[in-house]
Amino acid sequence: MSQMIAEVILPVSFCDSLSYAVPDEMMGQIAPGCRVSVPLRGKQKQVGVVFGFRAMQEENYQLKEISELIDAKPIMTEQQLKFWKWLASYYACKTGEVMMAALPTGLKSEDAYKPKFESVLRLSESYCRPENLESLMASLQTKAKKQWQVLRVFLSQEDFHSQCDFSDIRLRKADLLQNEEVSPAALKALIDKQIFIVEQEEVSRLKPLQADAPSEICFSPAQKKAYDEIYQSWKTKEICLLHGVTSSGKTEIYTQLIKEALAKNKQVLYLLPEIALTTQITQRLKKSFGSQMLIYHSKCSMNERVEMWQRILKADGPLLVVGVRSAVFLPFSKLGLVVIDEEHEISYKQTEPAPRYHARNAALMLAKIHGAKSLLGSATPSLESYTKAREGRYGLVNLTQRYRDMQLPDILVADINEAKKKKQLQAMFTPLLVEKMQETLQAGEQIILFHNRRGYASILSCKECDWTPHCERCDVPLTYHKQSRSLRCHYCGKPYALPAICPSCGKPMLLSFGFGTEQVEESLHQLFPQARVARMDTDVLHERAALEQLIASFEKREIDILIGTQMLTKGLDFDNVRLVGVLNADMMLNQNDFRAHERAFQLMLQVSGRAGRKGRRGLVVIQTRQPDQALIQRVLHHDYKSFYVDAMKERFTYSYPPYYYLIDVWFKHREQAKVAQAADYFANILNPLFPDMVFGPFEPAISKLRDVYIRKLTLKISPKQSLLKIKDYLCGLQSHLQKDPLTRQVQVYFDVDPF
Ligand code: ADP
Ligand code: ZN
Ligand code: ZN
Repeated sequence: MSQMIAEVILPVSFCDSLSYAVPDEMMGQIAPGCRVSVPLRGKQKQVGVVFGFRAMQEENYQLKEISELIDAKPIMTEQQLKFWKWLASYYACKTGEVMMAALPTGLKSEDAYKPKFESVLRLSESYCRPENLESLMASLQTKAKKQWQVLRVFLSQEDFHSQCDFSDIRLRKADLLQNEEVSPAALKALIDKQIFIVEQEEVSRLKPLQADAPSEICFSPAQKKAYDEIYQSWKTKEICLLHGVTSSGKTEIYTQLIKEALAKNKQVLYLLPEIALTTQITQRLKKSFGSQMLIYHSKCSMNERVEMWQRILKADGPLLVVGVRSAVFLPFSKLGLVVIDEEHEISYKQTEPAPRYHARNAALMLAKIHGAKSLLGSATPSLESYTKAREGRYGLVNLTQRYRDMQLPDILVADINEAKKKKQLQAMFTPLLVEKMQETLQAGEQIILFHNRRGYASILSCKECDWTPHCERCDVPLTYHKQSRSLRCHYCGKPYALPAICPSCGKPMLLSFGFGTEQVEESLHQLFPQARVARMDTDVLHERAALEQLIASFEKREIDILIGTQMLTKGLDFDNVRLVGVLNADMMLNQNDFRAHERAFQLMLQVSGRAGRKGRRGLVVIQTRQPDQALIQRVLHHDYKSFYVDAMKERFTYSYPPYYYLIDVWFKHREQAKVAQAADYFANILNPLFPDMVFGPFEPAISKLRDVYIRKLTLKISPKQSLLKIKDYLCGLQSHLQKDPLTRQVQVYFDVDPF
């Protein structure tokens, strides 16, 4: 009888781990972090990861045994196992769900990963003798000139010296074929005659990155001061927030800090939002770090992911991983520094599937597990991070000057309503913006036009005055439900009738959903027929190559006006952009989301930051119908602090984060009655426990998807309550539902800190 039980994490969503008996012959070889193959639900082979061990008790005698130990050495680090546990606990999901997201597909099943082989050529043994080779060359030179040429190229490729053995020459077939003098037919003939022997060799898919001659970083006095303050804050705190205006040289500071961490033989994780990875930042980092750096993005293939995983697992020297949010799952063993660039970016939050984690918060926990220091950077910090910095939980370092004392751009407001009244609006352009565009084009400088239409299709406004109906309880614009032609609050579910008369201007309510980037492009062609115009939106977002090409051609000044959505704001550094236009600031403010104002402020300041990074001072024109709106005024004055105070007041009044925690509970099933039953079960128990803090259950904007009915319930949790206890309680309700035959099939899951 075996003495030990292993807790095995399996890719399932019904439990954290399952217990299996460890066969005696595996003892001494099996360790936490090793993969094993186990029987599960009748299936004989399911790959899992060993989490830990405990002693066998009498009541465990019926446990099934582990069938096979896959790894001689763990494929995960101890720190990762801790991290998985934390993720499952914080985000109220199962460790198995974390495993599904965290392990590359190639490691989740035994044989998914395929090593890459390439054909390599060598000379057959008999021709390695110089006398044989010489006579072969002589005969080929007269009878088969092309084959002779191939052989000559082969022999001249490697720089071998006279005493070198010909059998040492090995050349990739693909490389040889690159040479113009090599005819594929002649090469094939040499292979057929067995003069060349072809062998398959395993090669890495990870292309080595080349470092340039590293340029010394020479800080400006402001940068040096910020750099010193970061180290100072790390003496007493683990996390430091660098609040530096756009183009203040934050990236250069990160670069220096990374160099120093690597010099101490540490690993570094540098997180970036997906889109920023395609841009110049990686080029800049590559110059400094070359082969010490790995780039991890969402378009890496399954096999590349496995190779990167193994490379990091085996790394014993310094290593920099520049990656998107899922890079937090890589097997670091000695992280010394975590840099989270653009920490305010909402794309750090994963909403689907579980774990619904926020990569910034997860990376901070990962750093804590490793005892590493963290640096958050942004020109427009999230309210969450800035609050923690103000409370003294994070260090706070300000960098208020641009590098080389470039001035921040001059921001002007153009009143859309006034232009409309005076009949001066040309399509969606105010006279001020048209005039500035004209000037910029004449000077041969470039323009970025920003138009954010994310989610706008479900938010309606009065065609006459742009008034948008809001929920009185939640302070967010109402969502328009097409099917029922009614309005509903996306947070509390309260329904509202569609008004016949606009309460703001008194005219009959005509619906308007605004305009899209295609219309902007068309209007530009009419206004400036000579200008070269391009559009950067979700269509190109999915095509990494197309996006890179667009950025490159804008850099090369082949485009005069670039129209784009929020992706334009992310860390792009163009030299020749003089003017940035924000086409409709109101549309950004009218999102059905309590973070709309925060995001609008961030987007406007970030996109403004693209103007005038080199040379002359940049100019920004913001078009709006509410020029006196407080938020617009904050943007005009680059006034983050006042924006912060305003925004926090609202968050307090309506009990939103960072004052309160939010947890969304989602219910999904094909039968409407069952979804309702499950959701009501939660609501009936939670309502008396958290009076006034349970919202719903209600139908979300998309209430039915692929024949599955969806209900949602939101819980606001006061900071005085224990988040952990509440999550445990919710998980208890969830498992209760899953035991009831009537509701067992209803999918219930939680979104902690939803976006
Ligand atoms: P941020 O990340 O704050 O937006 P960057 O690091 O991109 O700012 O810096 C803005 C520009 O100034 C970049 O073109 C960068 O190369 C340049 N720059 C910043 N600091 C230095 C420095 N110390 N030496 C040389 N160039 C610098
Ligand atoms: Zn109106
Ligand atoms: Zn509401």
